[in-house]
Amino acid sequence: MNTFNIKKPFKAKVISVERIVGPKATGETCHIVLETGGEIPFAEGQSYGVIPPGTKINSKGKEVPHGTRLYSIASTRYGDNFDGKTASLCVRRATYWDEEKGAEDPAKKGICSNFLCDAKPGTEVTMTGPTGKILLLPEDQKTPVIMVATGTGIAPYRAFWRRFFIEDVPGYNFEGLAWLFMGAANSDATLYDEEIQALAKAHPDQFRVDYALSREQKNSKGGKMYIQDKIEEYADEVFDLLSSGAHIYFCGLKGMLPGILEMLERVAGTKGIDWPDFQQKLKHAGQLHIEVY
Ligand SMILES: Cc1cc2nc3c(=O)[nH]c(=O)nc-3n(C[C@H](O)[C@H](O)[C@H](O)COP(=O)(O)OP(=O)(O)OC[C@H]3O[C@@H](n4cnc5c(N)ncnc54)[C@H](O)[C@@H]3O)c2cc1C
Repeated sequence: MNTFNIKKPFKAKVISVERIVGPKATGETCHIVLETGGEIPFAEGQSYGVIPPGTKINSKGKEVPHGTRLYSIASTRYGDNFDGKTASLCVRRATYWDEEKGAEDPAKKGICSNFLCDAKPGTEVTMTGPTGKILLLPEDQKTPVIMVATGTGIAPYRAFWRRFFIEDVPGYNFEGLAWLFMGAANSDATLYDEEIQALAKAHPDQFRVDYALSREQKNSKGGKMYIQDKIEEYADEVFDLLSSGAHIYFCGLKGMLPGILEMLERVAGTKGIDWPDFQQKLKHAGQLHIEVY
């Protein structure tokens, strides 16, 4: 944790920046590979801090460096090349839509996400971390893992599935079920879909994926298909898995959570389960992992 901090940051170099959404996606998301030389080690589920270059004027009128922004690490500890010398981020470019003008206002675009998405190979990135304990994986490699993501919330899960199925590491042999629920606006906005489909094909007994595409699919009531509607379709299985020790992870935008929690409480009620009590038990057992931003 926090091997590097604001006073003693780490300098990484950008290796590549790749747009990973299709033309009809709402917004732009990039996969960014950083050269770290393995000198800022982390565990799957952790985040790095990035300090964008430049300064801002703070509330006291003083010119100060920009603050740190956190990004979930989207590769395992071995990086995308399996040599332990890189780490990857999955970054959505933050833009500002001016309702009055009916156009984007470039003066108000997100500072760090635009810096990262515009970076060229060789660009220096000032980093802190790693940080975060919330999304770490269970120690028991048989434990089923349910991963719920919206948008870039998928980043830590890419690290999970690569550790589970893609990398062959002595001492790590995942034997559980990995079940991904992914929410996105449309099929152009899904992230890492090729990798996901290949896994679903190669590991049909151990890897499941279910998409909720709000602008393309309808829920059972004929409305837009949101992530909570998709989980609800499988609520019996999800509750059975949780009752028998599965871990459930939620990662993505803050706004995803109220709808999901409302659905879980409602479904629990139909099963005669007291949700606050059940939720508390999951928390105590370390089975509930929530990181939203
Ligand atoms: C634990 C954690 C993990 C995260 N993981 C990821 C991740 O994996 N991927 C990811 O993309 N993000 C992630 N984030 C979010 C990330 O840290 C940043 O918050 C995000 O990239 C926006 O930062 P920025 O510097 O681009 O925007 P900022 O410059 O901080 O601006 C924030 C927002 O305000 C808007 N804005 C700017 N100026 C104005 C103004 N004058 N008036 C109104 N609005 C304005 C911007 O357009 C932007 O949308 C994570 C956050 C946390 C806490």
